Amino acid sequence: MLTLDDVTVSKGTFQLRANLQVAPGLTAVIGPSGGGKSTLLASIAGFESAVTGRVIWDGDDLSCKEPGQRPVTMLFQDHNLFPHLTIAQNVGLALAPRLKLSVKQSAQVDAVLTDVGLPGLGGRKPAALSGGQIGRAALARCLLSDRPVVLLDEAFAALGPALRAEMLTLVRDRMAQQGRTVIMVTHDPNDARSFADQVLFVAEGVAHPPQKAAAFFDDPSPAAQSYLG
Ligand code: ADP
Ligand code: MG
Repeated sequence: MLTLDDVTVSKGTFQLRANLQVAPGLTAVIGPSGGGKSTLLASIAGFESAVTGRVIWDGDDLSCKEPGQRPVTMLFQDHNLFPHLTIAQNVGLALAPRLKLSVKQSAQVDAVLTDVGLPGLGGRKPAALSGGQIGRAALARCLLSDRPVVLLDEAFAALGPALRAEMLTLVRDRMAQQGRTVIMVTHDPNDARSFADQVLFVAEGVAHPPQKAAAFFDDPSPAAQSYLG
């Protein structure tokens, strides 16, 4: 269980408050632009430190840990693949940070590239792939990582609807249903409705405790109602 215990994060004059728990499974983060969604993910990943409160994973206080020491893998919209490495090497970083892959690990990389629809493209550099293919390669790296908390910040926003649905299906089936805690910012409430177990609404600097997706959409709070329209 991921707990944000009375957390306050400051970014310039902006403040985000969160006092909530996130259960394993797929949690969609939605809310108006500028409300604090990315700040929430940054505080969990450790890119922003909490001014007050604690971030706790399974009883372990993460507050003073560097991003690399946290049980977290994060995917941004711009995907941050290394341009000088091949796709297979970029994906393999999830298994071997020094790029020395065993035969078994290389086979795992090939298999996950096939799963995301990139069979045989492991030898290419990112520049030789389309934007959509880069998104899939970045997702493949998260799929192979064994970190239990996965943060996706509008990672599929640039993809068309069909490809986005494919990626969300992989996230649900291969991450959330395997017991990982997946927290996914999306600007499309329909993605949340179709794929998420829970919805975490963020607006005006407050991250609200997650609700079951059905309950959130069937009986939205006034603030959520005005966002959903
Ligand atoms: P969201 O992801 O929901 O669109 P963000 O978490 O990115 O929102 O931003 C929350 C607020 O923080 C924004 O309203 C913005 O004004 C402020 N903000 C974002 N980045 C910075 C920054 N580098 N310096 C100061 N304020 C910032
Ligand atoms: Mg954002």
